[in-house]
Amino acid sequence: MTQETGGFAALGLHANILSALTAVGYEEPSPIQSQAIPVILSGQDMIGQAQTGTGKTAAFALPILSKIDPAKREPQALILAPTRELALQVATAFETYSKQMPGLNVVAVYGGAPMGPQLKAIRQGAQVIVATPGRLVDHLRRDEKVLSTIQYLVLDEADEMLKLGFMDDLEVIFEAMPESRQSVLFSATLPHSIRAIAEKHLREPQHIKIAAKTQTVSRIEQAHLMIHADQKTNAVLRLLEVEEFDALIAFVRTKQATLDLAAALEAKGFKAAALNGDIAQNQRERVIESLKDGRLDIVVATDVAARGIDVPRITHVFNVDMPYDPESYVHRIGRTGRAGRDGRALLLVTPRERRMLQVIERVTGQKVGEVKLPNAQQVLDARIKKLTNSLAPLVADAEASHGDLLDRLTTDIGCSPRALAAALLKKATNGQALDLASVEREQPLVPGVGGAPRERRERDGERSGEPRERRAPMPLAEGRARCRTALGARDGIAAKNLLGAILNEGGLAREAIGRIQIRESFSLVELPEEGLERLLGKLKDTRVAGKPLKLRRYRED
Ligand code: AMP
Repeated sequence: MTQETGGFAALGLHANILSALTAVGYEEPSPIQSQAIPVILSGQDMIGQAQTGTGKTAAFALPILSKIDPAKREPQALILAPTRELALQVATAFETYSKQMPGLNVVAVYGGAPMGPQLKAIRQGAQVIVATPGRLVDHLRRDEKVLSTIQYLVLDEADEMLKLGFMDDLEVIFEAMPESRQSVLFSATLPHSIRAIAEKHLREPQHIKIAAKTQTVSRIEQAHLMIHADQKTNAVLRLLEVEEFDALIAFVRTKQATLDLAAALEAKGFKAAALNGDIAQNQRERVIESLKDGRLDIVVATDVAARGIDVPRITHVFNVDMPYDPESYVHRIGRTGRAGRDGRALLLVTPRERRMLQVIERVTGQKVGEVKLPNAQQVLDARIKKLTNSLAPLVADAEASHGDLLDRLTTDIGCSPRALAAALLKKATNGQALDLASVEREQPLVPGVGGAPRERRERDGERSGEPRERRAPMPLAEGRARCRTALGARDGIAAKNLLGAILNEGGLAREAIGRIQIRESFSLVELPEEGLERLLGKLKDTRVAGKPLKLRRYRED
């Protein structure tokens, strides 16, 4: 075990959990994890104030898994999440962290999927149930004993659950569990309604909050880019083409990610290396030395490994993975702007991490403006500029030293100086794409939040660059109609906002609402065909995130 995984070991987690953590490559606990894990292990009730991106899932999953007895084949832990997406995400996290716990089973219980297999998995003794409240109550109606053996309860994103109108369901669920259970509540905010739940259902909870001190980050120009997680490497490669950097440090969360990204950068010809806690201290020092003297230009590091790096050449910090808290963000970007120089910091933000971005802005008291992914034209311009910069200083001397050679070669080959210069350029640029069509071909448009181009292609029905399964239209369930709103991710909309608005104002049952797809500049929602016009009428004046929803029937052709 490395010294860094020791950070987790000191918290008292079970050995099987520690080895699973080594396998996923976490080096040290995030602040919320350091604080919450000992409390949960001790058996106390707890309220944790934290949002997505702080590592809150592991903060409750790791200690709960440490306490579960996999030999007992009955539900022991219940995690409640507001949405199906979050429930699935949490269930996956539990599966990952319990890889070394034979016999441990996790079941995700959510609406929209058949109830039978869910109930079967519970009856077969899944020890962890991750559920949305609505569907869980449906199960309780069929079998009121489903939760009678629960010892650990977690309410994840409790404020979101209340916003979605799950209050009554929560009461039913609380009633169905043994009073002796341990309860943990996570919420980004603690409005009165959440405090009231805690008062009623938690026993002397310990309150945990990551203190956010105001920090100053002058001299560093900051920006963020919205991007889906699976597009990060592509995005980094593109950004590196246009950013004029001297040395750069890229932060990721896991050891594996340091290796993967460094390898991807090296493959593209960058002088890059990984820096993580598994790398021996003397080797780490060599990496930093190389960054100082220019043998390396990019270091891909975890927070632990990058501690204390002071290299004046660093002009850029890329936060490829979100830091856990604003302090760590400030610390990371402080690796640039050293010795009174200016620096630039870029933060990649996935749609679920928007809130963390807002927290960072609040704590640093600065707006972190948005940048878009550079397009092919910008990449091309940057390449030509680099070529120009590398050739311009040679022009003055080269004619004197190589002019005669040029004359001879043009004569020997029988070509014009222009043709020869072009051949030399081709050779010198090593096949690099240097016209627009080639750059476009070489850099398939990055789909997702950052790339408006994808939407354009979707509208045009021209999606040739995409894998087959993305192209296939989502089949509509019988009796459903697809509706569209012009509100999308760029308006700060998430599926749960739309769901909440339609539930509250449309007076529909949750089951009546099908798939919700959020795109950059619009969203699609599946609604019941029956009574659709009436429903759209009811939603006529509804506003979401301060903007008119204006939901309309969507024609697919
Ligand atoms: P969450 O705030 O629970 O949504 O977690 C955000 C992301 O951080 C997830 O992708 C986790 O896999 C990752 N993560 C959580 N804890 C750690 C850790 N200690 N080290 C590295 N990555 C982590």
